[in-house]
Amino acid sequence: MQSIYFKEEHNLLRDMVRRFVETEIKPHGDAWERDGMVPRETLRKMGELGLFGLRFPEKYGGSDMDVFAMIVLAEELGRSTFGGVSVTVMVHTAMSSPHLVYAGSEAQIRKYLPDILSGESICAIAVSEPAAGSDVGGIRTRAVRDGDDWVLNGSKMFISNGYYGDLYFVAAKTDLEAKGSRGISMFIVERDTPGFKIGRKLEKFGIHCSDTAELFFEDCRVPAENLLGEENKGFYAVMRNFQNERLSIGAMATSESATALDLTLEHLRNRQAFGGTMIEKQGIRQRLATSQCKLLAAQQLLYHAAWLDSAGKDAVAEISMVKAHCAETAQEVMYNCQQFHGGMGYIRDSPIERMVRDARLHAIGGGATEVMLEEVAKRWQ
Ligand SMILES: Cc1cc2nc3c(=O)[nH]c(=O)nc-3n(C[C@H](O)[C@H](O)[C@H](O)COP(=O)(O)OP(=O)(O)OC[C@H]3O[C@@H](n4cnc5c(N)ncnc54)[C@H](O)[C@@H]3O)c2cc1C
Repeated sequence: MQSIYFKEEHNLLRDMVRRFVETEIKPHGDAWERDGMVPRETLRKMGELGLFGLRFPEKYGGSDMDVFAMIVLAEELGRSTFGGVSVTVMVHTAMSSPHLVYAGSEAQIRKYLPDILSGESICAIAVSEPAAGSDVGGIRTRAVRDGDDWVLNGSKMFISNGYYGDLYFVAAKTDLEAKGSRGISMFIVERDTPGFKIGRKLEKFGIHCSDTAELFFEDCRVPAENLLGEENKGFYAVMRNFQNERLSIGAMATSESATALDLTLEHLRNRQAFGGTMIEKQGIRQRLATSQCKLLAAQQLLYHAAWLDSAGKDAVAEISMVKAHCAETAQEVMYNCQQFHGGMGYIRDSPIERMVRDARLHAIGGGATEVMLEEVAKRWQ
């Protein structure tokens, strides 16, 4: 579909990612799902293509593109039908590493960014904890200054890229007296830091090729220069980057659903029953046409919110709507796609069965639907 939002540079990027998905992801996705990981070799190839620096300044080796480049990347990965690949890549490039570029010092950026861009160093964002997910202000991991170090104690839960990652952006309380969201700071923690332990690789309902881990900090000494951004202002950094995260989840959710819808239409065109093809049945075609309308509306909301954000407007309400609405639309569309695949939609590792499972995360991770709707309601006058 023609769009006012995408320019020639986005179309070229889209073609490149689409080719990569066809040749380097789709043939291997089933094996990666079984292995529970996306091979580093593939991530390095994406790094070589420049896909990990799309929005970062040219002076640091990035391409200085806009938010629509990130959307193109998320949309095209979504077409792969392997949600775990999208999560692995988008967590690295759209949800974690922007923390370094937006808040890091020149020295921190120069030290860490080259390996992040090349895919040599894969990043994770560690905010959620066993006792605090939706309520970020409730985190208990703490960091206490001791000489030239910060000493971290606590644990993190559900961390994507946590098991095989290299570089972790960790939120911890630095002002233990401060209430709620105040007194949180961000730290850069390298994988082999003493006192930093990677716990279980968590078994999940979906996105099997995305690795998810528990993390533990036991008197973990992080050099003072690894404080990222301003002390006690980490909550605002997390919130700021949540906008990126939520737009990319909106893009994954809509594109995965559109792909599932295409697969379903193809299936129904070929499936014969009651003297004709299934796609001729009015009850089915109208329900899928409704899904298509809702998807297009969700996608346009995504583009509108991204445009507001890129124009420098306060788009927190709209981006929260994107996260809630695209994720919930995906649940409905995926339900219909599975329903009309009949028994095949229920068989383990058929593309639809996998996509239904993978899409469930969109309504929970990165701010559950209800939490997003609170963000909208809070802004009522
Ligand atoms: C596969 C996976 C990957 C993840 N990756 C990461 C990651 O890389 N980094 C990271 O930091 N976190 C990550 N998370 C954590 C994720 O962001 C949290 O699970 C999510 O924010 C919900 O937090 P919670 O699990 O603690 O649920 P809770 O906060 O306990 O909430 C449970 C449910 O209650 C409802 N709810 C919560 N608050 C309200 C409210 N105010 N009003 C009404 N209903 C409400 C919602 O439906 C919510 O799902 C990941 C999670 C999963 C499952």
